[in-house]
Amino acid sequence: MIVMKFGGTSVENDTAINRVADIVLGRLEERPVVVVSAIAGVTDALQAMSNAAASGSLPEALKLLRKVRQQYLAVLSVLASRAGEAAVRQEVQALLDSTQDVLRGISVLGELTARSTDNILAVGELLSSRIVSAALAERGIDSVLVDSRHCIVTDASHTRAVPLFDRTSDRLRSHIKPLLQANQVPVMGGFIGATTEGVPTTLGRGGSDFSAAIIGAALHARRIEIWTDVEGMMTTDPRLCPQAQRIEVIGFDEASELAFFGAKVLHPATLIPAVEKNIPVHVLDSRHPESQGTCIRARAQRSRTVFRAIAAKAGISVINVKSPRMLMAHGFLRSLFEAFDRHGCAADLVSTSEVSVSVALDSSRDVAALVNDLQKLGEVEVEDGKAIICLVGKHIRGRAGIAASVFSTVAAAHVNVHMISQGASEINISFVVEEQDVPQTVQRLHRHFFEPTGQDGPTVIRSVTTRSPVPVLVAQASARPEAG
Ligand code: ADP
Ligand code: ASP
Ligand code: MG
Repeated sequence: MIVMKFGGTSVENDTAINRVADIVLGRLEERPVVVVSAIAGVTDALQAMSNAAASGSLPEALKLLRKVRQQYLAVLSVLASRAGEAAVRQEVQALLDSTQDVLRGISVLGELTARSTDNILAVGELLSSRIVSAALAERGIDSVLVDSRHCIVTDASHTRAVPLFDRTSDRLRSHIKPLLQANQVPVMGGFIGATTEGVPTTLGRGGSDFSAAIIGAALHARRIEIWTDVEGMMTTDPRLCPQAQRIEVIGFDEASELAFFGAKVLHPATLIPAVEKNIPVHVLDSRHPESQGTCIRARAQRSRTVFRAIAAKAGISVINVKSPRMLMAHGFLRSLFEAFDRHGCAADLVSTSEVSVSVALDSSRDVAALVNDLQKLGEVEVEDGKAIICLVGKHIRGRAGIAASVFSTVAAAHVNVHMISQGASEINISFVVEEQDVPQTVQRLHRHFFEPTGQDGPTVIRSVTTRSPVPVLVAQASARPEAG
């Protein structure tokens, strides 16, 4: 079997959903499970209406909900025939009516809990899966809607729930396997799950990719396909840098680093289940289904450029803890990281000097309580509005001069660097800059390391020593970082 996940833009209207049906029709022999996201922008709208309801603007919340209702009903009316449409329309209306009730409840209480947030955020994927399942049926595919809340079992950490893999695998096998054996096509919403008690949860923004990988791992998929709105995984975000080039094949290790450091094309946790079961993940363009995309797998040939790709992650805060007396004292760092752990704050980057420790982390975390705790250890300062830029490449391991080349390129752009870290895996160089400096920094680095016609020319590996006794020689500069 295979898993095919279609993101928000791949189901954004009737034309897109019809393309999904064509793509699925072409793969029926491989026994696909189809996973879909909310229509692009709907999860943001659901979050905005929850916030509006909680902050006393119920009319604004209801207006946003009406827009979502119109969006889905418009798609449905084009896609489903008269008979099919009536039943599905009723289900869609019922789901939206109950969302309206939840919004009214939030408005009365004037409080938005993480649990109610999940209740509302789940609606986008529930609607999409209902409608895509109907659209596939309309095209003659024997599709079956499967409620992901019955299959993906998670803990209760709402809005960032962690899947309980064993229970999830059991449920997936018992719900999905019989359908596949009967040659039916299960259609599921990504991003959503439920606790063992059945309370709806979500896996964190962008989590549909993760859902697809969990399903693929549980059912021993031959392949997991992530269908999206770009050619594949690229040498950097094409929105930041139009010169970005498609990567043909990339290893799990490099792709994981990129996803972790902001390559939004994959949710950061996506590759964990895939690596565990050694299942290749293909990133494909739903608008150009015939194109090759990117294959992410255990082994990939080395890239011809020094780095495989550049990622950037905005919305970062840096916490500096200054403690001149304590820093080198026994147990200081342990106390520091225990504080992060207690408050559930994961560090993205860490760097230490003789007098201070700097930790970069996601700004969406409320750090007030953490800062309170850290003040017991030293003087604390929080800087917001930062971003991490991360260059990933296996070749940098043990090679001199690479970091100098990165930072002289950044310096030439007159960009101020706040923190520098070479990842423990030694396949990335990461640093922190102001958010507004991200586009120009990424563009410069991309020009320097990837573009043959740029003024700096690409940095190409001319001679590298591998662990094998034979040196690998790559003579020619190339626009493609990939050897395939
Ligand atoms: P979907 O809705 O299909 O899940 P996303 O918006 O979550 O799509 O992810 C696709 C987007 O990821 C692209 O439009 C692109 O702007 C962004 N992106 C960031 N880094 C990369 C990269 N290295 N390669 C490809 N896309 C990237
Ligand atoms: N719809 C969810 C989001 O926008 C999940 C996803 O698209 O992967 O975050
Ligand atoms: Mg996504």
